[in-house]
Amino acid sequence: MAKASKSKSKSAPKKAPSLNAALKAVIDDLVAGNRILYNEDIVDGYGHISARDPRDPDRFLLSRARAPGLIVAGDIMEFGMDGEPVKDDGRPVYSERFIHSEIYRARPDVNAVVHSHSPTVVPFSVTDQPFLPIRAGFLYPEVPVFDTRDAAGWTDLLISNRALGRALAGKLGNNTVVLLRGHGNAVVGPSVRVAVYRAVYTEANAKLLLQAKLLGGPIKYLAPEEAAIMNATRAKVRPGHGSDRIWELLKSEAMGTSGKRRR
Ligand SMILES: [Zn+2]
Repeated sequence: MAKASKSKSKSAPKKAPSLNAALKAVIDDLVAGNRILYNEDIVDGYGHISARDPRDPDRFLLSRARAPGLIVAGDIMEFGMDGEPVKDDGRPVYSERFIHSEIYRARPDVNAVVHSHSPTVVPFSVTDQPFLPIRAGFLYPEVPVFDTRDAAGWTDLLISNRALGRALAGKLGNNTVVLLRGHGNAVVGPSVRVAVYRAVYTEANAKLLLQAKLLGGPIKYLAPEEAAIMNATRAKVRPGHGSDRIWELLKSEAMGTSGKRRR
């Protein structure tokens, strides 16, 4: 017994299994993330979430074209930084996959991207009402609005080619959320779990903002100083706190294992 464990610790071919384990963990999170976003009404039949491939930073993982609420591990495909599948097996792919590829190209710090049409956020993309933080510190420094009309004139508003994806990534800059005029938003994060958390709280912030505006009068927004303190605390993902606590709850609800029935 002791001998076996000794030889085990000596040989170091642990890299491949750990990379495979990392890949499986990311795919599991992508499946759960899709279900959560659907369960929380952030996506409907449209919208998607991707993750940078833990084995190769120049690739990313994204489902075949399918409604998020139905996605299983076998749907996840691998894409290159040109936005095309690494292995084209004939399965349909999302037309807006260039949102993901171009953000990954522009932002090495980003490991997950959510694109949704989350409904309460959209009005802020078509009015002059700025999308400011009530309690979501990650909305600082700003939430820019990308307009396909400025980038490409008349279009169907979809980010369906590399040039539009690049223009969108440019508008996002170093921010966390970018709105797409009359369409939706893109949210980024260092992991699938954090990106899902941010997508959920982007919608929540829009609801709070709308309600505050209905009450009237000046709104006391989250100060940049407060946001900086929040962001510093939440940058460290701690078990039982912040995005970790929310992920555990929302996943159990989306997978039907919590005590609460949402639908
Ligand atoms: Zn879209």
